[in-house]
Amino acid sequence: MRTAIRRCKGCDVFTLKEHCSKCGSQTVMALPPRYSPEDKYGDYRRKLKKLKARSS
Ligand SMILES: [Zn+2]
Repeated sequence: MRTAIRRCKGCDVFTLKEHCSKCGSQTVMALPPRYSPEDKYGDYRRKLKKLKARSS
């Protein structure tokens, strides 16, 4: 069984349910998958790393 932390965009609350217990709207995955075959976030992570290195 897979558990994923989800988040309601409206209330900004974390939940494990697909729908927010407060407002009832659909929640979204709070965290991107760590290992994605497409690695959509790879480029973003690299940019972030560069920025951090520069500012330190
Ligand atoms: Zn909500």
